[in-house]
Amino acid sequence: MAQTKRRELPTKLRRVKRLTARERWLAVLDRFSKSIETPKSERIWAPALETASRSRILAIQQEKLRAMVPYLYEESPFYRERFRASKLTPADIRSVADLPKFPVMTKDAMAADVAENRPWGTYTPVSDKVWRERGWMVFSTSGTTAIPRSFRYTQTDARLWAITSARALYAMGVRAGDTALTCTNYNPHVFFWSLHYAFNLMKVAVVPGGVPTERRLAMIDLYRPTILAATPSYALHLAGAMRRAGIDPRASSIRMIICGGEAASGIPSTRRRIEDAWDSEMHDVYGCTEAVPGGWAYTCHEGLASSPVSTHVQEDLQIWELVDPETMEPVAPGERGLTVVTNLNSEGSPQLRFLVGDFTSFDTSRCVCGRTFARAVGGFSGRADDMLNIRGLKLFPSVIEEIVRGIESLDDEFQIVLETDGVLDAFTIVAETRVHLDDGARTEVSRRLEAEVIRKCELRPQIRIEPPGTLPRTEFKARRVIDRRHTL
Ligand SMILES: [Zn+2]
Repeated sequence: MAQTKRRELPTKLRRVKRLTARERWLAVLDRFSKSIETPKSERIWAPALETASRSRILAIQQEKLRAMVPYLYEESPFYRERFRASKLTPADIRSVADLPKFPVMTKDAMAADVAENRPWGTYTPVSDKVWRERGWMVFSTSGTTAIPRSFRYTQTDARLWAITSARALYAMGVRAGDTALTCTNYNPHVFFWSLHYAFNLMKVAVVPGGVPTERRLAMIDLYRPTILAATPSYALHLAGAMRRAGIDPRASSIRMIICGGEAASGIPSTRRRIEDAWDSEMHDVYGCTEAVPGGWAYTCHEGLASSPVSTHVQEDLQIWELVDPETMEPVAPGERGLTVVTNLNSEGSPQLRFLVGDFTSFDTSRCVCGRTFARAVGGFSGRADDMLNIRGLKLFPSVIEEIVRGIESLDDEFQIVLETDGVLDAFTIVAETRVHLDDGARTEVSRRLEAEVIRKCELRPQIRIEPPGTLPRTEFKARRVIDRRHTL
């Protein structure tokens, strides 16, 4: 039908070049990103967007959605098939209100696509040709338990990455003249690379800390960085290593800790420990490998005084929804649900309704900082994938973390060990004390930990209190759950 119509067009009109869906999408990305290349005020990078009315934010989202969906449909065989299976076309997804018509996209569906179409899968709109012409960087999931899911980002993404991450860092209070020590190895993890490119753009000098802990201690002493970027686990570990080396992290040059890669904002006792250890503000970023560049959620400087500390999502770049974990239907406004993102800020991976899968609730009222971007209340406290089922009860490891780190005499590390005892789950928490305690004091701390876990989790654990320095320390993402249960 469309082809018949095209044949009937006058010759003059036929010569007018029709933009492809990719060209239309790239033009939209270019237009919006141009307005946020540099900061427009002392405190807020892009006031016209970050303090926009809710209706204006919605209008921007819809304008982008109408260009992004046809692009994804035309360039991604995986998405085209999902549209077909749902009996939908791009014309059916033109507004935010239309989104629930489209099924939530899971990691498992992506993994199945990769298994059939190695190594890249077809869930992104980046072809081999685009990759050869404009490829920038590969990011991938770890692939320790499944086939790695890989994402090819382009030169366009590199630019978007820097400016949208810089905008978030600006909200934290990062400024030109700061120096940042990034505690990472050279790995395909989105958190550190996004910081790195944003620091470059902001004229924040970077000390690449891809070295052992002992050298990082020396780097802090020698180069006097003002910002430390690390996972929450590592920020605590590094502070402990400094103290053991006779250096007081509170007296160091560090004034701000930027955490990513693990939940931190959602665990108040971890936040308190990091801020106390370094006598610094702790900021937090949240996002996922599947839906970048940049655009990650962040804590703002002014909001740190609020309780709970909440995390802004960048709503002109992404649409965030919350869904019920059982039905995958949207929850009512203000209710708790699992995060789902539609990415309106990418050439390489503009996903549609991707289930990131963390629990939170959103507050859309204006923040004390003046921004109108929605805030995840109390941050993000746990990915649904991490949830444990123990004796039929659901438990987030983050709840145990909150309890352990709320007990002053216990050190930062802990483990949750699950085993099969007959037909029951044996549930043990292993923690260690900060200093050597006598038997009486150890029994007392053990009882307190047990009582707190029973009160908050309705589960009775076995408790093992170990001497200082017993448990393994982590350089990157911590693995604190050891599940040795028999599976049938
Ligand atoms: Zn704020």
